[in-house]
Amino acid sequence: MSRSYSSATNSDHMRNSNRLLLINIVRRKPVSRAELARITGLTRAAVTIIVSGLIKDGVLFETGSADADFGRKPVLLDLVPSGYYAIGVSITREGCNVGIMNIKGVLLHKSAVDLERTADPIGMIRMIAESVRMLLKKVSIPNERVLGIGVNAPGPVDAVRGSILNPPNFSQWNNVDIVKEFSEYFDFPVLLENNSISLAIAEKNYGRGAELRNFMLMVVDSGIGAGIVINDKIYRGAYGFGNEVGHTSIDFRGELCQCGNRGCLEIYASIPAVIKDINSRGSSITTWKEIVDRALKGDSICKETIEQEAVYLSAGIVNTMNILDLEAVVLTGDIGYKPKMLLESVRDIVWRSGITRKINKLIIVSSSINEDSGVISAASIIFERFFRGEI
Ligand SMILES: [Zn+2]
Repeated sequence: MSRSYSSATNSDHMRNSNRLLLINIVRRKPVSRAELARITGLTRAAVTIIVSGLIKDGVLFETGSADADFGRKPVLLDLVPSGYYAIGVSITREGCNVGIMNIKGVLLHKSAVDLERTADPIGMIRMIAESVRMLLKKVSIPNERVLGIGVNAPGPVDAVRGSILNPPNFSQWNNVDIVKEFSEYFDFPVLLENNSISLAIAEKNYGRGAELRNFMLMVVDSGIGAGIVINDKIYRGAYGFGNEVGHTSIDFRGELCQCGNRGCLEIYASIPAVIKDINSRGSSITTWKEIVDRALKGDSICKETIEQEAVYLSAGIVNTMNILDLEAVVLTGDIGYKPKMLLESVRDIVWRSGITRKINKLIIVSSSINEDSGVISAASIIFERFFRGEI
């Protein structure tokens, strides 16, 4: 009995891991059955059987033909957009948004949760849960198609325990076991990540990271955060805090940071720091967007400010690249507004500063996920686990 039980679970496991293998190839671009056999080393017959199962289950569908030089054009396979969904809950200092996204990374619906009515975390979680319920009702998607709920919040968070720890200026959410509280309302898996790591997860699966195995996503807005992907996996470090590029020092004699270190990148290059600096020189500017728009019209102080920001960010980037030797840096956050001028300066500085950059130029780009990146990245947390076979 035990032998047949164990062989059944082994073959289940094999079938599931082969299904996952095919899903992970198809999600990058539509391919034919023959191509799947070639890439995976599975036999054509095995691929045909697995693909039939995936089509029957509504996960894959047959789409247009590939260009073939001669003969019959093979049918391509793609993911069914309505095959799976994930819910994203994005909690920020400004409020909370919830949304539902399909497996292709398309956000179907998004709404803001009004948290003004309560400051108690349990009450806020109840209100968010109600919004998620209403959302599910509105889109009328069967529960079995929903893989889970991804939550993101300002760091630091304990992703393993599912707790928000003690992010600065976020006292109402400090030390909240949000996953545990949220799980009371739903049968779906609930997972938590900090904002920057979830943005890196979204970029890896649905943005520019789809072509990159080693990159740093750098978020520059009210602070500076990062998510680092190494060999296609999020790098967390020993204790889960291995992405704090904003707290690497660019001046060891500099100003004392609230983290205890001196001259942290964030002290100079966060958007509030940049605005404070430009206003100390006689401007009255309130946003990075304004700086960029004025610089594009030729304002010399704004141009200098962008150049200065490029110098600061480059220092952080070069420090990180000299240790990790990544393929790319993807910039996002408020800094992503019309980023051409900034990116050109950063590339210029970084390419001159690294040991190997003259030969092997680091890719420095802005994120392709701009609108609704908070909710998209929260939902991506779930799909990332699904693609890894962990949900
Ligand atoms: Zn610091």
